[in-house]
Amino acid sequence: MAAAYRLRQLKWRFKLRLAQWLLGDKATAPHFAWAGSGSSTQLCARIAESGHENILVVTDKPLRELGIMDRALASINLQTTNVHVFDGVEPDPTFSQAAEGTALFKAHNCSAVLAVGGGSSMDAAKIIALAAVNDDDPRGWVGLNKAPEKGVPIYAIPTTAGTGSEATMGAVITDDTDHSKQIISGLALLPRAVALDPELMLSLPPGITAATGLDALTHGIEAYIGIWERGSRSETALMAVKGVFRWLPQVMAEPHNLRAREGMALAAYYGGVAINQVNVGNVHAIAHQLGARYGIPHGVANAMVLTEVLAIYGSAAAPKLEALASAIGLPEATADSFIEAIGALRASVGLPSEHEAILRHDIPAMAEAAIVESDDYFSPRLLTVDEMSTILTSICAAH
Ligand code: NAD
Repeated sequence: MAAAYRLRQLKWRFKLRLAQWLLGDKATAPHFAWAGSGSSTQLCARIAESGHENILVVTDKPLRELGIMDRALASINLQTTNVHVFDGVEPDPTFSQAAEGTALFKAHNCSAVLAVGGGSSMDAAKIIALAAVNDDDPRGWVGLNKAPEKGVPIYAIPTTAGTGSEATMGAVITDDTDHSKQIISGLALLPRAVALDPELMLSLPPGITAATGLDALTHGIEAYIGIWERGSRSETALMAVKGVFRWLPQVMAEPHNLRAREGMALAAYYGGVAINQVNVGNVHAIAHQLGARYGIPHGVANAMVLTEVLAIYGSAAAPKLEALASAIGLPEATADSFIEAIGALRASVGLPSEHEAILRHDIPAMAEAAIVESDDYFSPRLLTVDEMSTILTSICAAH
């Protein structure tokens, strides 16, 4: 067992060196990001200036029915740009939904995609942008940096404040055949321009506001404590963590407070910029299993797992967690007090610390699957299968 763990560690350190050598220290972020009330107007103007005669808007039905898509597109110049809509995205989008969108893109001779929605719409739009000009099967693009180099321009107007997909070169997509969540990444997936418009987030229900907010917090924390030093990950991760602690309680108390909604939109964006440089960590490796097997929303899964993973790291993460405790102004700058503050925030926004859907007999398989995924992330340290199982058991409500 100890020998197997040492071998994993050796491979893991080799992967880190390889990633450092291949990707260097260069930071990547969208070319333009506008923030503030009405900023979707600026993005629409940029789309028109870019000369796109036909664009495909990628969204979901609830957002269309709520009128959010129309508000986002209110200022697009219909004299110069024809807008075609694909609203077939569902939460945790699938390859087949992306294929439907791609067919519509081609049928209308579009030259760009504009995502209006949460992570699901943005990720579906990213796959459509690649599939529009690459005829091979998108399943072959799964993995780190395996996406084709060419895609059509992607524009994004996020309507949730959480995933940070608007700032990442990754897309999470579900395989229809086995319901597994797959990650596709590559520079062509990075949105060209983004508008963080809080007016479009006012209608977010409390449950989604809370879950997506904790998703953004997890991004900030995992990017900050990991062992891969790259670009502006420390600064942007810190802005995400501070932003969530500063604004999420206020957004929950005053859902129509534009300033607080903008604060959360920025926190999520910075979280995205941070994970775009150094990726996520063990929390995501476990949360993805919960999403794939039980459909537990991504932010809810992250929120449950986060405190448990941070506690198990021990000294490997303590100095960074102390720094985070200090950054958010806790009276005691210790790792324990920071973990307690996360637990208190999670409870105050109404998210659970355990889940009744998790079945004990599934835990060994999920722990193994989490190990496989986690070996691609540069967390403070590798966890063992037993540690993964302990974490999953601690969030299983059926004790
Ligand atoms: P989502 O896009 O799945 O949306 C969830 C629900 O919220 C939908 O029903 C949607 O209609 C509704 N909604 C969205 N905005 C709304 C608004 N303003 N008002 C009312 N309702 C609104 O949720 P999400 O959490 O943003 O995205 C989750 C997806 O993103 C998952 O598939 C996850 O794996 C992925 N993800 C991607 C990245 C990345 O870098 N690409 C990072 C993290 C997560």
